[in-house]
Amino acid sequence: MQFIDPHVHMVSRTTDDYERMARMGCVAVSEPAFWAGFDRGSVDGFRDYFRQLTEFEPQRAGWSGLTHFTWLCINAKEAENVELSREVIRMIPEYIDRTGVLGIGEIGLNKNTKNEAITFSEHLELASKLEELILIHTPHLQDKYKGTRMIIDMLHEHSEIDPGRVCIDHVEEHTVGLAKEGGFWCGMTLYPTTKCTPARAADIIEMWGDERIMVNSAGDWGPSNPLAVPDFIQEMRKRGHSQAKIRKIVYENPLEFFRQCRRFQFDGPAAADA
Ligand SMILES: [Zn+2]
Repeated sequence: MQFIDPHVHMVSRTTDDYERMARMGCVAVSEPAFWAGFDRGSVDGFRDYFRQLTEFEPQRAGWSGLTHFTWLCINAKEAENVELSREVIRMIPEYIDRTGVLGIGEIGLNKNTKNEAITFSEHLELASKLEELILIHTPHLQDKYKGTRMIIDMLHEHSEIDPGRVCIDHVEEHTVGLAKEGGFWCGMTLYPTTKCTPARAADIIEMWGDERIMVNSAGDWGPSNPLAVPDFIQEMRKRGHSQAKIRKIVYENPLEFFRQCRRFQFDGPAAADA
């Protein structure tokens, strides 16, 4: 089955991974800007990163026939440096209109600190001013519920931001309701160690339905699996869910969300061979 991985950090993956994803049916990836594993020292480090995301990665994805989309921001893990964060936020407009850029992300909170909240809020102001889609990272494990609540409260303070243009990612059983009831899109991340397993993601779909929800691998430089979406497809098949329902979650839903971006362009495969 053809699928889209709507959250995967391909700069950390090999060209073989692109090839394996393509063989499993992946037709497009969307890559949020994130933490490189070390704090970058200057705004120029982000300039180079944004060039990599908008120039080289689309080309490398294309070698395997995949379409590459991306999101720009400074990640919450680097947001403690408010001065650098401000420089990056001021620089984002230089890159935002490039082909394949879907919006601002993944922004949000990590340890729920004051500086993270300042940087998150300034990203929201930029996204609102430029009318961009927003992709939200929610914190891990013990910080997740509190962080998700804080994020949603801050989003509500921006009443001009339409929740239908925001995706709250890494939702789990205890946070999916907060996002759904707020009218937001949701992303479920399938990680081998933390976050959801394919079975938990399928349980969540069975409880909450298949509207405004997608699944991703969030593959990156840590323990992760860029073929996690096919694992979810297999889990859903074993449970007897229809092809149409599975396809909606792994293909049509991400497209429906992305299509709201004014720059969005995608010549997807025809439904007949999907
Ligand atoms: Zn991520």
